[in-house]
Amino acid sequence: MNFELTEEQKLIKRTAKEFANNELAPGAVERDQTKQWPKEAVEKMADLGFMGMMVNPKWDGGGMDTISYAIAMEEVARADDSASVIMSVNNSLVCYLLQKYSSEFIKENYLKDLASGKKLGAFSLSEPQSGSDASNMLTIARKEENCYVLNGTKNWVTNGLNSDYVIVFAVTEQGIGHRGISCFIVDKKNKGFDVGKPEDKLGIRSSDTTELYFDNVKVPKENLIGKEGEGFKIALSTLDGGRIGIASQAIGIAQASLEKSVSYSKERVQFNKPISANQAIQNKLANMAIEIESARLLIYKAAWLKDMNQNFGVAASMAKVYASEVAMRASTECVQIHGGYGYIAETGVERLMRDAKITQIYEGTSEIQRLVIARDLLK
Ligand SMILES: Cc1cc2nc3c(=O)[nH]c(=O)nc-3n(C[C@H](O)[C@H](O)[C@H](O)COP(=O)(O)OP(=O)(O)OC[C@H]3O[C@@H](n4cnc5c(N)ncnc54)[C@H](O)[C@@H]3O)c2cc1C
Repeated sequence: MNFELTEEQKLIKRTAKEFANNELAPGAVERDQTKQWPKEAVEKMADLGFMGMMVNPKWDGGGMDTISYAIAMEEVARADDSASVIMSVNNSLVCYLLQKYSSEFIKENYLKDLASGKKLGAFSLSEPQSGSDASNMLTIARKEENCYVLNGTKNWVTNGLNSDYVIVFAVTEQGIGHRGISCFIVDKKNKGFDVGKPEDKLGIRSSDTTELYFDNVKVPKENLIGKEGEGFKIALSTLDGGRIGIASQAIGIAQASLEKSVSYSKERVQFNKPISANQAIQNKLANMAIEIESARLLIYKAAWLKDMNQNFGVAASMAKVYASEVAMRASTECVQIHGGYGYIAETGVERLMRDAKITQIYEGTSEIQRLVIARDLLK
């Protein structure tokens, strides 16, 4: 057992922290208020190699391990959670899936540009009637001679507006449940593809989330990922890895909450002493630190299992459910420690609380993570 980060992981942490502090943090509150998509930040993340961190260099990725990815995600989320979800979708839901399941043709023509950050990806599984029960989808992919024709509506697509390519799940054979679902990569320039207006969200407001509409969209047959009928299996195994990213995002928010709470509690004087002199405040800080450290260890364990090619699904669910709940508690306590000043946008503290909430919902809600964990216990 070794708790020391490698030299490469330490370098990634330093690089990500410097970028997050100098280039992400300064405009994060304003971007949240104006719902401005962080274009420059995404370009810089591409320059830093953060958009395809775990992809083999032969496909223009960074060739890094999952722990490095978790470290970078935490640092980015600490400064700007919206930027971190843009990064996480491209890394864990798009590039990871393509590297693991797609053909050489797709890797050459799509993965290279996505991993280098020249293009941006999105992952489209959810539909209005099928969220947690994702296999209950209605989007159809009808097979024709040289292509599949897609019809249907997807929703809640992160990067739906600003992406170039979308991983889409659709039914190729009806009446056989999840075994009839297939996975495609779709170029948004295809005729019949349309994007809805960005949702007005509680948090992660400078990332975009949209509906996608498919009206007889012709997708070349080479764009099928895996075999027909393998789509749902591909989606679930990809989401296992995605949960490590979301857990890291959550812990970034929690860490920002702790740092802001420590510095404010030392500055803010009430009853002639800093509020940090009160044990009630100290207990809050200590509890935050204990929980953040515990969550981080769960994340590193899940990431390590993944890097060792061992089963990591349950570990990733544990990391996600715990880290997201820690993020909620830490950000709520952070607002409390800031008193009234925590409740206004200017201090950037209420944003942490709003951003934290989504980590309990997307890529599988906390209830669904507990089902995954319990199913494993009871098998
Ligand atoms: C901002 C945002 C970004 C998103 N990005 C993407 C994306 O990029 N791609 C994508 O495909 N999807 C995305 N999603 C969708 C997200 O993954 C779903 O919202 C999530 O899976 C939950 O589905 P739902 O919203 O339909 O809730 P539902 O499934 O309707 O669940 C409602 C409630 O019931 C609970 N529940 C459901 N079933 C059970 C059960 N069996 N046992 C106990 N409790 C249960 C849930 O935990 C939840 O509390 C995004 C969502 C949001 C809000």
